[in-house]
Amino acid sequence: MPIKITILGSGSATPFLGRHQTSLLADTEGTLYLIDCGEGTQMRLLECGVKTSKIGHIFISHLHGDHFLGLPGLISSFNSLSRKAELHIYGPPGIKELLSINFYYQQTFIDFTLTLHEISGDNKIQIMENGYVNVFAFPLKHRIPTYGYLIEEKQKKPNLDPAKIKNIRHIQHLTALKSGNDVVENGVLIYKAADYTLPATPPASFAFVSDTIYNTDLEQYIKGATCIYHEATFLDSHEARAQATYHSTASQAAQIAKLCQANMLLIGHFSSRYKDTEPFLKEAKKHFEHTYLAVEKKEFLVE
Ligand SMILES: [Zn+2]
Ligand SMILES: [Zn+2]
Repeated sequence: MPIKITILGSGSATPFLGRHQTSLLADTEGTLYLIDCGEGTQMRLLECGVKTSKIGHIFISHLHGDHFLGLPGLISSFNSLSRKAELHIYGPPGIKELLSINFYYQQTFIDFTLTLHEISGDNKIQIMENGYVNVFAFPLKHRIPTYGYLIEEKQKKPNLDPAKIKNIRHIQHLTALKSGNDVVENGVLIYKAADYTLPATPPASFAFVSDTIYNTDLEQYIKGATCIYHEATFLDSHEARAQATYHSTASQAAQIAKLCQANMLLIGHFSSRYKDTEPFLKEAKKHFEHTYLAVEKKEFLVE
């Protein structure tokens, strides 16, 4: 199954009607990962019909409010809804203290297992793994410590060839073949896996590049990612402003996608000074054709 990305927020720091602050959801094989949690994220999750108990991991890029301020509310809601499922939150140094102060003064007593992981350092590091994916964090260049995240699917199992398997009746034989194993009984080869399967779908990967100045170091962290989300706060006309505030333009986001040889680019984090987002697409496409605007509630399949 492809990685499904749902855009929950596409705005930046100051409010703009119709755009919520940064957040998106990645779904791999029914496991949900929330990336950033700006204000309004809970409302978008509701609107998109997301079963929030299935969110087991939350990745926070940095502690600026437009990426973080929805998180205390979301955790409080999980508590009020008697969440039982474990939750892991990853973020930069300070996230533990910020949340702890919140819980202390709100007198919120967390009733489910909540593990906070603080990321530090200047290198790409693996932060989690399960049966389907490896997840890495990598440093970005912003005004405060900021990390991007890379979700990489593991090598998939081969696909059964429908034309070849129609006469195989035993489920255990099909299961073995699907796992790439030959079926051998009493030392006799019954079915050779390679004869009954088609090559596995190549694994997909999704890189989330949050607030950052234009930074070609990203090539070493996310080269070959199938899809990159990259912030695009400004248009070319405000490139100097992007530089001064450690943000990027749409053109710069597209140049990073090209440099990293991605198949697809999503751009978001639009400054509220721009009412129309079409010029972002136009400027990005000059450098990278397969660019899409991060439109809220829209889903993108990464495969
Ligand atoms: Zn931001
Ligand atoms: Zn920021």
